[in-house]
Amino acid sequence: MQDLKQMWDNVLSKLESMVSFVSYELWIETLEVLDYTDKLILVATSPSAKRQLIKNHSKELTEAIESVFGEDTKYEVLDPEEKEEYLKKNKPQEKVIEPDDSKRMMFNPKYTFDNFIVGKSNQFCYAAARAVAENPGYKFNPLFIYGGVGLGKTHLLHAIGNYLKQSNPKLKIEYVTCDQFTNDYIESLGTNKEKGSVKGTAQFREKYRNLDVLMVDDIQFIAGRTSTQEEFFHTFNDLYQQNKQIIISSDRPPKEIETLADRLVSRLTSGLIQDIQMPDFETRVAILRKKAQLERYFIDDDVIEFIAEKVDTNIREMEGLLSKVYFFATLLGKKSASIEEAKEAFKEQIDVKKEKLTPEVIIQTVCDYYSIGYNEITGKKKSKEIVEPRMMAIYLISDMLDIPLVTIGKIFGGRDHTTIIHSRDKISELMKKDHKTRTIVNDLKSQISEKC
Ligand code: ADP
Ligand code: MG
Repeated sequence: MQDLKQMWDNVLSKLESMVSFVSYELWIETLEVLDYTDKLILVATSPSAKRQLIKNHSKELTEAIESVFGEDTKYEVLDPEEKEEYLKKNKPQEKVIEPDDSKRMMFNPKYTFDNFIVGKSNQFCYAAARAVAENPGYKFNPLFIYGGVGLGKTHLLHAIGNYLKQSNPKLKIEYVTCDQFTNDYIESLGTNKEKGSVKGTAQFREKYRNLDVLMVDDIQFIAGRTSTQEEFFHTFNDLYQQNKQIIISSDRPPKEIETLADRLVSRLTSGLIQDIQMPDFETRVAILRKKAQLERYFIDDDVIEFIAEKVDTNIREMEGLLSKVYFFATLLGKKSASIEEAKEAFKEQIDVKKEKLTPEVIIQTVCDYYSIGYNEITGKKKSKEIVEPRMMAIYLISDMLDIPLVTIGKIFGGRDHTTIIHSRDKISELMKKDHKTRTIVNDLKSQISEKC
């Protein structure tokens, strides 16, 4: 059993190597862990220690906490006065954290159906997830949910898990990421060799083949892992034949996962395949309101709308900005940030992005993606292998940057602006009809953002 203290010690030892000796001694080692319920509550020695810590080391603190407590773990730093207020309101309790193996069985209590905002972009996914939760193993088996990063796939999987745990506590449910499944499998092989028996794999099979519900999150990472695919195929068949529910998530549909064995593709496509897309503006606003309510953030409606407008590709990123604005207001000693302060809070982030984001970066990313040369894409060639990436680069530049069409034409070897408009509109059209184009655009956008 790992308790909170041990986990915090692990966070400290990570941070020790991430920040300077002075910062560590002054602001980090002196932190007190007050509570860990829905978020980690830390107390700094003074208001100025809190300010310095947040100003200089939020990034490192977030990284170290997430690496020990799990992705998306939230924390809040209080000063001594705020600690007193907090204690008056909440009775702190030490939470015993389950060891790794059972930790993965825990579903995030916030990821429920109630907390999931339904709009046009996700209504079918939501309905399918509910149907499976209410009647596992019957209607949609397997249920395969796919869509870009941060659009709510994991949330829905956990919502199914939370629902089932409550409605039918006896069910044996396993939720794993693709990496956990792979690691479990590899480990079982290791035990097998060491002990010179089939114990390892037998244990693995006993665990996975006696389930009522198996959920595998982010299955796309199984690409290229041949023996894991093989094992997954048998697990799948075994469960499926017993009418056990299988739920899978991925960032793309089965047939677009490269090197996925044909027979596995056909298994995965045999149930319901449902895509999830980025919600429209109104739904994004509703999601942010819900989030603010859950986290008890006070945020004005115009600020929420501003955030919903700024971020239109990833809900996780949108939520990140929401907490940033909230913390910014807290730093200013206010309850809620004004729209000007919200703009100020992301100004730095947006400016840095803008400076680094250039047409060259976009073109180079597209070239690397399609394995073609920079001179080819900006040159005269009209072969299909070059025309498609060229249109894609033109689309991304006009979508992500605010530069005149004529200038884009010049970058692409002096092309006329009508040609630029044609390329841009062609990709927009394709994106409406064709999921593959959407996936490529999303992949490219996230690769570009990673560089900037
Ligand atoms: P994915 O697994 O698709 O990458 P997640 O499920 O991790 O995305 O979602 C990212 C964040 O966005 C989570 O905090 C989740 O609660 C939130 N989220 C996504 N869609 C919705 C929604 N429709 N309503 C409320 N929250 C949502
Ligand atoms: Mg996910």
